[in-house]
Amino acid sequence: MRLLSIVTLAALAASASAANAAVNVMASTEDLADLTRQVGGDKVKVESIARGYQDPHFVEAKPSFILKLAKADLLVVVGRELEIGWLPPLVQQSRNAKIQPGAEGYLDASLTAKILEIPTGQITRAMGDVHPQGNPHYWLDPGNGRHIAKAIADKLAKMAPADAAYFQSRYADFDKRLAEAEKRWDAQMAPYKGLKIVTYHRSWPNFTDRFGLDVIGYVEPRPGIPPSPSHTIDLIGEMKRQNVKLILVEPYFDLKTPNSIARETGATVLVLAPSVGGDKDITDFLKLFDHDVDLVVSALKQTGGK
Ligand SMILES: [Zn+2]
Repeated sequence: MRLLSIVTLAALAASASAANAAVNVMASTEDLADLTRQVGGDKVKVESIARGYQDPHFVEAKPSFILKLAKADLLVVVGRELEIGWLPPLVQQSRNAKIQPGAEGYLDASLTAKILEIPTGQITRAMGDVHPQGNPHYWLDPGNGRHIAKAIADKLAKMAPADAAYFQSRYADFDKRLAEAEKRWDAQMAPYKGLKIVTYHRSWPNFTDRFGLDVIGYVEPRPGIPPSPSHTIDLIGEMKRQNVKLILVEPYFDLKTPNSIARETGATVLVLAPSVGGDKDITDFLKLFDHDVDLVVSALKQTGGK
């Protein structure tokens, strides 16, 4: 009898704390963590695995993440195999059934996003090692940020129905702030429509598509394959022919090849953060674009883009 009452009390305490508990979310990247915070507010606890200054294809799978994943109610991933090199073993070893692929607590953010560069025909390794299912850097279009935020808000509303109205009103507020910011970014970028640039990795197709820049080549010969002398020579020739004056480089790549290309072509190398947390002032999704659009515009002004 005494044992029963202790068990009952413990069960009551557990269900009371569950009712008040925030949804415990793990996100694979800081971008997804921020979008979760935007819509989840104080009804979620969010942490990310990859840091915004790391190459998201290659993240160290630290054992400490396994413990955090074991306690998660929801895992939000970029998908399109971006995390294939490091996330699956962590998720498996967490032994948390809630967040395994296909489970209710597993959200692939790419499913509602606009995905570019989806390969057609047979996929071979010759196409590069890291983008076999379309371009996984799709969060770099603010419009995709809106789609991702909506998918997260809908998922949270399902998981915590009592807070559904809260998540939807946070989403509506985010959507409004994003729409205002998009007007500002579009106006800043408008003078540079059609301007030709080169990027190190194929991180930027959604960004350049959205803002009307034309990427004519890459420092990497193929996604995930380091620069080679013959490709670099070809790229320099093409940049000279097309008068390309800007090379975007992600913060985690060696600047040696971009700098030597810049010396040969008179182009400017611009290190541009592709993620929230990629620079100290990029503390949320809107600031990511504030930061990047400002840097691109000031670089284009200096290179005489217009
Ligand atoms: Zn990539």
